[in-house]
Amino acid sequence: MSIMKILETMDYGVAPENTDEAMDWLHGHDKKFGQFINGEFIQDKKNKYFNTYNPANGEKLAEITQGTKKDVDVAVKAANIAQDSWAKLSGFQRAKYLYSIARLIQKHSRLFSVLESLDNGKPIRESRDIDIPLVIRHFYHHAGWAQLMEDKLDDYEAIGVAGQIIPWNFPLLMMAWKIAPALAAGNTVVLKPAEYTSLTALLFAEICQQAGLPKGVVNIVTGDGKTGSLIVNHKDINKIAFTGSTAVGRLIREQTAGTGKKLTLELGGKSAFIVFDDADIDSAIEGLVDAIWFNQGQVCCAGSRLLVQESIADRFHEKLKARMTKLRVGNPLDKSIDIGAIVDESQQKQIASLVKIGIEEGAEIFQPDCSFPKVGCFYPPTLLTEVDTSHHLAQEEIFGPVLISMTFRTPSEAVALANNTRYGLACSIWSENINLAMDMAPKVIAGVVWINCTNQFDAAAGFGGKKESGFGREGGIEGMYAYLKPKYEKKLKVAKAIKSFELKTKNSLATVDRTPKFYIGGKQSRPDGGYSQAVVSAKGELLAHIGKGNRKDIRNAVEATTKATGWTNTTAHNRAQVLYFIAENLALRVDEFATHIQSLTGNSKKDAEKEVYASIERLFYYAAYADKLDGAVHTVPVRGVVLAMPEANGIMGIVCPDECPLLGFVSLMAASISMGNRVVMIPSETSALMALEFYQILETSDVPAGVVNIITGDKNELAQVLADHYEVESIWYFGDQTGSTMVEKASAASLKRTWVNNGKSRDWFDNKVSQGKEFLNQATDVKNIWTPYGE
Ligand code: NDP
Repeated sequence: MSIMKILETMDYGVAPENTDEAMDWLHGHDKKFGQFINGEFIQDKKNKYFNTYNPANGEKLAEITQGTKKDVDVAVKAANIAQDSWAKLSGFQRAKYLYSIARLIQKHSRLFSVLESLDNGKPIRESRDIDIPLVIRHFYHHAGWAQLMEDKLDDYEAIGVAGQIIPWNFPLLMMAWKIAPALAAGNTVVLKPAEYTSLTALLFAEICQQAGLPKGVVNIVTGDGKTGSLIVNHKDINKIAFTGSTAVGRLIREQTAGTGKKLTLELGGKSAFIVFDDADIDSAIEGLVDAIWFNQGQVCCAGSRLLVQESIADRFHEKLKARMTKLRVGNPLDKSIDIGAIVDESQQKQIASLVKIGIEEGAEIFQPDCSFPKVGCFYPPTLLTEVDTSHHLAQEEIFGPVLISMTFRTPSEAVALANNTRYGLACSIWSENINLAMDMAPKVIAGVVWINCTNQFDAAAGFGGKKESGFGREGGIEGMYAYLKPKYEKKLKVAKAIKSFELKTKNSLATVDRTPKFYIGGKQSRPDGGYSQAVVSAKGELLAHIGKGNRKDIRNAVEATTKATGWTNTTAHNRAQVLYFIAENLALRVDEFATHIQSLTGNSKKDAEKEVYASIERLFYYAAYADKLDGAVHTVPVRGVVLAMPEANGIMGIVCPDECPLLGFVSLMAASISMGNRVVMIPSETSALMALEFYQILETSDVPAGVVNIITGDKNELAQVLADHYEVESIWYFGDQTGSTMVEKASAASLKRTWVNNGKSRDWFDNKVSQGKEFLNQATDVKNIWTPYGE
């Protein structure tokens, strides 16, 4: 073609990537791979194999082993044996291994990129310039965390063996997100890659060998969902980290309930991409290309819902369509391709069927007239307008190169639309008015917010969701916490049941009958069911009758918390003042509360007073922290900053321990409300009267209505209602094992965050165990807000 012709058409030539080294690597293994267990590749004659294909042309790339129960057992055993000595290495020694892995991946980066694109179908431009550099960055960054464990995380230790299950959309990157922090923290791992895309994990196994990683520290077990399930349900695994669909995440939550396994879930999304009329429109269009057509839209945090301000919507759609016509779909190994292949035919069909439903519901479709190969799994970039919030497409994750568009008029409409989803993963906000963008950021329910940018990731910045997008963070110090447990945890003992006292005399202590009621929305409230239960003192005297709460009472209390958003949005200084005021009022009534404790527990006057004074001190502690749990400014390798802002969970259900009627209650209430949560408290049956006495303190301490609500009754029955309640965002449970299991299982439906004690008791007087970082972390979620610099 003449230069003149090239200049006229401005067309791209073909720029194919060389696949020789990747193919040589596959042939070097006879295109057949065993499991990587205990530092070696193992092939068992009895194992079955499945094929992995290049989705761009349907060619078979290799045969992969279907992991069996025996494979998983052997891998978990190897990981268990290796864990102790791995954790005992100094941070520096672990750092050297992680550094070496980073270096080795860097040295073979092109091989990794080509293999990833062959196996997954993603454009080589993306695997080469985004996936693999981020993988390398993750191992470097976490070499740093291994080193700094003793400095920065001295109160924490490794959890043990981590079972990790990853999806096919970012095979090597998701593996790095899981393995790097796990190893840095001193855990060992058994990781299962997705069936469609196991190859780079197996190449990584060879890197582990080259780095001289001790045997059993990393084990890669290939296979399908059944193998994943074997990992999830293995009794010797202490932590499960999962990335994938919300449906499987929910199942894993149910299956791990009550096992004591720690769990982090990174699930689906339906993230909003909000464009205000003052945005730099051309930049926003380019951002949108990255948001929804990066990785063929097979991205959990894809900006799949465009929300554009009505005043610019027509112009924006026009420009967007023009840009879409320039997107090149084709061979992923062509360096000038924008959109590669969909990972598998089943995914391609799923995308097509969802789009069909959208059109049937009235959406208008635009697909540019682009050409792509006849064979292979390809799907054109697609825009759907005229979509209504109730439409299937507005709610379901499509997981393909399909964008839906809706319009809004005001910032508050934009927030309402953005939050009108069961997911809460990410959000992009485009406006030249930084004040507006920063005002929006805390209002959208999402773990990550990108201002005037999109799909930014870095090892130093946490990533993860809220609501049905899962819980837990990957990256940064939050990601390290996900692989650590407080050192005190292993010393916690199974709680002895505290029985209610038997009634010996029918005489009430009070000369005039007292009827403590529930405390809902700042008011005393009679139980809906009209049932009461007797409270008996340690001496066997009838102290009072208190209400037995039911589903309706819990619903009313949750309703009251929904109206108390002012508490979450008020200044931390104000929250601190209220907590100090609660302490002040309790200090005025030490004698009275000590007497209550005495009669409820039979403790000595001295011990009872000690509990009241400890409660006052704890209130002071959380008042102090209310304005001191600062976030962080992460320095990421872009021109800009990431603000890591701790946010309240929102509406919390708190089920209190049987021990220490006042201190247990106060510790949990103060920790949660100091961070801006609104709570429904369920005191233990043995201490319910104490909690009801306490609302007199709340009433006189300027606690706004609805911030603290107290319902008494059967602890586990009420906990079940809280766990089932869709609007309760997080639940803490301090009770028996049965209740812990039930709470975790029930919360699978709404995927709320849980913190349960699995029947273990703690010393509420011991500050190291019963206050501090872990409580604050459990009371908050970190939102990472990316704000680039420059014009
Ligand atoms: P899955 O959630 O099914 O798969 C994710 C991982 O979990 C894979 O390794 C899978 O194995 C494994 N797995 C499947 N079932 C179980 C189980 N019962 N127990 C333990 N592990 C299991 O996602 P899919 O790949 O099937 O994709 C389906 C949809 O999920 C997509 O259309 C998309 O909407 C969403 N998705 C979301 C992702 C995200 O990052 N949020 C990533 C991938 C998908 P295997 O693949 O080998 O069967």
